[in-house]
Amino acid sequence: MKFSELNLPPNILKALEKMGYDEMTPIQEATYPIIFAGHDLCALAETGSGKTAACAIPLIQKVDPSLDAIQGMVLVPTRELCMQYVAEIQKIAAKTDVITYAVYGGFDKAAQIARIKQGVHVLVATPGRLIDLLYEGILSFAQVKCAILDEADELLKVGFLEDIEFIMSCILHEHQTLLFSATMPDDIKKLAHDCLCNPQYISLITNRAAPESIEHYFTYIHPKQKHAELVKYLEGEEVSQVLIFCNARHKVDTLFRSLRKDFNDIDYIHAGLTQDKRSSIIRRFRNQKIRYLIASDVAGRGLDFSHVSHVINWDMPRDGEQYMHRTGRTGRMGKKGKAFTFVTKHDLSLLNKLIHTKKISPCWLGKDPLSENIKPGQRKKQKRRRPFLRPFSKGRKKTEQEKET
Ligand code: ADP
Ligand code: MG
Repeated sequence: MKFSELNLPPNILKALEKMGYDEMTPIQEATYPIIFAGHDLCALAETGSGKTAACAIPLIQKVDPSLDAIQGMVLVPTRELCMQYVAEIQKIAAKTDVITYAVYGGFDKAAQIARIKQGVHVLVATPGRLIDLLYEGILSFAQVKCAILDEADELLKVGFLEDIEFIMSCILHEHQTLLFSATMPDDIKKLAHDCLCNPQYISLITNRAAPESIEHYFTYIHPKQKHAELVKYLEGEEVSQVLIFCNARHKVDTLFRSLRKDFNDIDYIHAGLTQDKRSSIIRRFRNQKIRYLIASDVAGRGLDFSHVSHVINWDMPRDGEQYMHRTGRTGRMGKKGKAFTFVTKHDLSLLNKLIHTKKISPCWLGKDPLSENIKPGQRKKQKRRRPFLRPFSKGRKKTEQEKET
């Protein structure tokens, strides 16, 4: 269905035309009538399927620009996503009088306060900075009609949950709540339901959770061989841009120091950098000034990079959700993308779970440890019988993954 077939105000339609949005994506088509009608909603759709605009278009329509108050509130888990989200709403609202603004940590709070005081209709925020502003009495949510949690399952995890509950408790009157994500683990579903009032559920994630556009490569390897293998792999690939994920900041630093000997145009990002540096890296990566970006999971969710051809999991993601989000930085909007994951023998049970729960069809570069019956439950038995065949068993250094946990 085309946007022109909706009864959209001409100023929104014109902005969408300018952005090159003609056909609605399936999640946009499925959720528009529900959001427009004012229902609470939990919507799931694969990475890169247009969830931002699915929320933003009806949200802008709901705002009354003549009322000088925050009417829409969007919560996102990271600063970079906050900036990206606000940019998308601002583009869609460009020809309207709706004012959208983002508040996030690492940026001058006084400047943010001054801007809010001038009037904002839609506020996009990370939870920490929003709570600061709420405590300081800067914000009023008395007119909020619509609250959106993007990457909702992440926001409802232990680290964020209390913050989210506090923020939502500040909206005292009746309002609409929308949750969006590409993943919703079972243990979070109940929390999601508790945030909503008579909700509708839309899930476009049916048989396989990953977009069809992504090919999933894996290699079973000793940790010490990862570096050589990565260089060989990337040199043999037609690479546009590459995102390489590690499980911790210090691993990002270490990998950067070693890989920059092999590649030019390489940089890194994690939450230990200043916000200025983080923003500049994301900008340079978007402008293709950086070809290889080594990242922690600060870049693992929501960020829209259209030129990423390859996502590398240097470290095996901790669960299926993290795998889906990381790899979803490529293969967006139907473009082709490749994911390449290093699997060490300590990752086998995670891998088994990942492949089965997320219904991934793995392409193995080299041997497939799962088909060779190196199943996690069986390894101990084999180890006891033939200890002399395993040079790494005695005095073995802990793998990176083990140190982490
Ligand atoms: P998601 O949140 O589902 O991961 P995004 O909202 O980040 O996806 O959108 C992914 C990409 O698709 C963005 O580059 C966005 O500009 C583009 N996009 C969204 N909706 C449309 C549309 N209807 N037509 C064309 N491109 C779209
Ligand atoms: Mg998104």
